[in-house]
Amino acid sequence: MQRCKASRKRGRDKQSNVTDSKSLRRPMTDGPDLDSKIVSVLVGKERQRFYVHETCIRSSSAFFENALNGNSIEASTRTVPLPVSEPIPFAIYFRWLYCGRFYNVEADDVGKSDQVDQDQPDDEWSEWEDCYKLGDFLQDNDFKDALIDLAIEKMCSDRVLDMTLIEVIYANSGASSSHRKLALDIAALLWTNGDLQALHSDKPYVQFLRDALALIGPDTRKRYIRSQGIKRFLNSKDLCEYHDHNARNALCYKEKHK
Ligand SMILES: [Zn+2]
Repeated sequence: MQRCKASRKRGRDKQSNVTDSKSLRRPMTDGPDLDSKIVSVLVGKERQRFYVHETCIRSSSAFFENALNGNSIEASTRTVPLPVSEPIPFAIYFRWLYCGRFYNVEADDVGKSDQVDQDQPDDEWSEWEDCYKLGDFLQDNDFKDALIDLAIEKMCSDRVLDMTLIEVIYANSGASSSHRKLALDIAALLWTNGDLQALHSDKPYVQFLRDALALIGPDTRKRYIRSQGIKRFLNSKDLCEYHDHNARNALCYKEKHK
């Protein structure tokens, strides 16, 4: 009996080791919550079916929390249709939900960072956009914070800025979102007149703002912002500065997916 107690105590003393992100050992209380019923999600016009643990998706997405709460049809049938979403971004979301990783790179994307052609459309960015829009629709702030880190990782790797990032963030985030700070920092650091003119909008005031920024932006940057590469700039940052969990007094998604 005594030996057993001593063993338990030694286990608790080593608890700090199991929080090391490289360790395979984890506290039993951590990890995805899989102790629940399964719900079906029917995605897209083709109604592709995904099976997901209810507690897992409800704790991450306010959309699913609302859809499966109370006496709704979705709650009674345990089926949630997402007709305006697409299967590929949902599959990326689905796997992130369980693994905390993005399984988004296709075979012909590999090695792209060594030979980035700025004139060629980058499929990985269009998938990122679809995922960010999906994250906003599902009201999953952890997923959106993780997508910001994914964008930063890709920009540091490719050393190329995709200006549509700015448009997508502004069209799919709240006015106080920290994601907009990333868009502003990147634009202040790297914008060119050509990048500004490539931003898409036919609204006259947007054209005015583009022209005004093209006029004053580059000179202002030369004067006030120390010249440095995108990788060096982003690596000097605490990336939680660009996450929205601080405004919600919530833990970073990284704490949940260590
Ligand atoms: Zn964070």
